Amino acid sequence: MFERIYPTKIILPMKMHYGVPAVPTVKVGDYVRMGQCVGVPEKGSFSVPVHSGISGKVTDISDIRLPNGILTPAVTIKNDMKRARLDSVRPRSGFKLSASEAIGVIRDAGICGMGGEGIPTAAKLRRARTEIVKDFLVNCLQSEPYSTSDLVAITEYPDYVVLGASACARAVGASRCIFLISENRREQRKALMNSIEKIKDDFKDLEYDIKLFRERFPQGYYRLVARALYGKNLAAGETIEKSCSAVLFNCSTMLACWEALSDNIPMMSRIVSVTGDASGGHNMLVPIGTPVSELLTNAQDIKNGSGRIVWGNCLTGIDIIDPENTPIVKTTSVISVVRKTEVPRTPCIHCGLCSECCPMNLSPNTIYEMLNQGLGQKAAEEGARDCIACGSCSYVCPSGINLTPAIASFAGEGRIIEINSLLDNSSAEEKTAYDMQPSYVGEASLLEDYSDTEEDKKQSSPDSIVLPFEKDKEV
Ligand code: SF4
Ligand code: SF4
Repeated sequence: MFERIYPTKIILPMKMHYGVPAVPTVKVGDYVRMGQCVGVPEKGSFSVPVHSGISGKVTDISDIRLPNGILTPAVTIKNDMKRARLDSVRPRSGFKLSASEAIGVIRDAGICGMGGEGIPTAAKLRRARTEIVKDFLVNCLQSEPYSTSDLVAITEYPDYVVLGASACARAVGASRCIFLISENRREQRKALMNSIEKIKDDFKDLEYDIKLFRERFPQGYYRLVARALYGKNLAAGETIEKSCSAVLFNCSTMLACWEALSDNIPMMSRIVSVTGDASGGHNMLVPIGTPVSELLTNAQDIKNGSGRIVWGNCLTGIDIIDPENTPIVKTTSVISVVRKTEVPRTPCIHCGLCSECCPMNLSPNTIYEMLNQGLGQKAAEEGARDCIACGSCSYVCPSGINLTPAIASFAGEGRIIEINSLLDNSSAEEKTAYDMQPSYVGEASLLEDYSDTEEDKKQSSPDSIVLPFEKDKEV
């Protein structure tokens, strides 16, 4: 179950994804409708478009700083509460799309990974297609404390999750579609099984499976999945596509993909958990860009007091200083309201707890010391690039040492270098795959007008067709 929130305004950052910011296509005073594109990537840039999830007037376009430090242009829209939407945002009927058309629709819908770094989904699909992966993995594990938004997405829209995954698996040419879920999520597992049963005849070329995982945190990161499913320890920079012939997507991202493919809905809303460690818990379907303060107004049972409001989960999230001007972005799955428990900062007592809990088998205290002394090369040799920023080491440290930010940002820099070098070294064909320029601008019908480029047509194979599927769902 979730509550629907209609905020008084939305603040839409042009950068909510991995890549460069989109460029606003509207100006102050313009009227926009639900589903309308308000920001597009510059030609040739690694980016995704941005859409409005409400109707109303643009009241401001200026730079804002997100809690993660990113400075980005943002478009503010005042809600007229009319929910006027673009005519093109309606279910398709009896459609057929080739694989490259399907990926094009996903690109134009502005979809990026909703469970992690926000990597543009179309780019990831194209890479998986180039690598010819065998397994299409759907991450339904959501193990972060207090987060249940993915589980609600599965419970409420299991057909959409399974159809999105099936369509994308077919688009990349995978032969198996595998859902990863915690063993104690019986309700969601049953919902997935029922949906698979319903649609499997339409996807006869796909083999379906559900793999059960132990409930623990962290769980769904691709390197942990590679270890658990394929017994492979990926080195930093090694991809699951190349090493395991698999690609991993979040289940809410699959739901968004099917909304785009089947209903022409761009990425303009998402389910967010709003939870507190003292009391209360909600899941809310909100337009992207909704200020955090409006979520909290609708969650009065959560005791805020002098606690922390965290953008993300309580272990790895970032404290919010100004909830009124901090928006929900495409990758925000949870807002946590938690007590302040500050452990006095004392020197390391070498208890070893941080090493014991590290899922990547690192020695966080050793790495932290090396980084403090500016010994980046040594820290890298010690495995610092393997850090997945789970926050566990900081959480368990009895000396109150916040180890994670330094180690995680060092690992993050490495990951940026890796992805950029991947782009620099990629073939001309792969570079075209990263050209995220959408096929529309402004108020034109956004997704309906999509058509294959000549290059795409050459790549399409006749067996990569997404089947029609009719259903009803409130937009
Ligand atoms: S948990 Fe804290 S005190 Fe213990 S070894 Fe790690 S850094 Fe040192
Ligand atoms: S945040 Fe700490 S515990 Fe988690 S992977 Fe990084 S070093 Fe290990």
